[in-house]
Amino acid sequence: MGKYVMLIHGGAVTTDPSSITPEKEAALKEGLEAALQGGWEILNRGGTALDAVEAAVMSMENNELFNAGRGGMFTLNGDVETESSIMDGATLRGGAVSGLKFIKNPVALARLVMEKCKHTFLTAEGAHEFALAQGLTLQDPSYFKTDEQREEWLEILQDAEKKSANGHDTVGAVALDQHGNLACATSTGGIEGKLRGRVGDSCIYGGGSYANNEVCAASCTGDGEIIMLAACAHEVYALRKYQKLSIEKAARGAVEVYADKLQGDRGIIALDPEGNIALESNTNVFRRAYRVEEEEPFVDIWMKK
Ligand code: ASP
Repeated sequence: MGKYVMLIHGGAVTTDPSSITPEKEAALKEGLEAALQGGWEILNRGGTALDAVEAAVMSMENNELFNAGRGGMFTLNGDVETESSIMDGATLRGGAVSGLKFIKNPVALARLVMEKCKHTFLTAEGAHEFALAQGLTLQDPSYFKTDEQREEWLEILQDAEKKSANGHDTVGAVALDQHGNLACATSTGGIEGKLRGRVGDSCIYGGGSYANNEVCAASCTGDGEIIMLAACAHEVYALRKYQKLSIEKAARGAVEVYADKLQGDRGIIALDPEGNIALESNTNVFRRAYRVEEEEPFVDIWMKK
């Protein structure tokens, strides 16, 4: 059995450090640790990378501190609309969903799309219909709306300047299992003050997520509009495959690619088939955690600039 590695993120953002109190930092780290542990245990007992990334992302979707599932950011209309994608590096199959308002765990629906649907991406009403057909129960929209996000939303409505601020913090995971398979999953409530129907990079293959056993698995976070235009997750793949860069340099390259024209926050976690790790961002905050086999887990939210 080969090396196994679990690597997750809970979003990258450029923000005033004082906006994250020590209590919030501790709670975020606890949430990251729990998600990491959930995924890591699956890998540790010989489970699949796909199950591990799904479990880790579900844990953060269920934790209202993260902007995915419960705790997702509001659209300007006051709804929570979520999206997610998952990709299997062994088969290159994927499942993606967007425009969700009633799905507790978007990543679980993305997995069902991957495994049970003839398509690779479902959105809005069709995605909900498919969820029902697969036996998922719909969640009351009030479940997703937390007081913290409601307050943010009210502030945005009242303050024109904040309307263009891009607060965000998606969740994602990449894993290498003992069978040598890579997988990735990403899930988000999107960005602050988004319009109804806005779709981000988290559900876009090659934008916010990409996995291919031969080369890498990557999950991105940051300003979705520019991440998908820079095709950041696929850029990690391309730099490693064609320029033979290390995974760390490939992820750095993807954080920087066309950064002059496509300005905004970018954060990327990535793994190569040998289990080498990359955690790169251009932000001061990047909530992230990893654990390699039985080694001590790493958890942090600050980036050294
Ligand atoms: N990338 C996400 C989006 O644009 C937001 C984030 O990563 O925080 O929807």
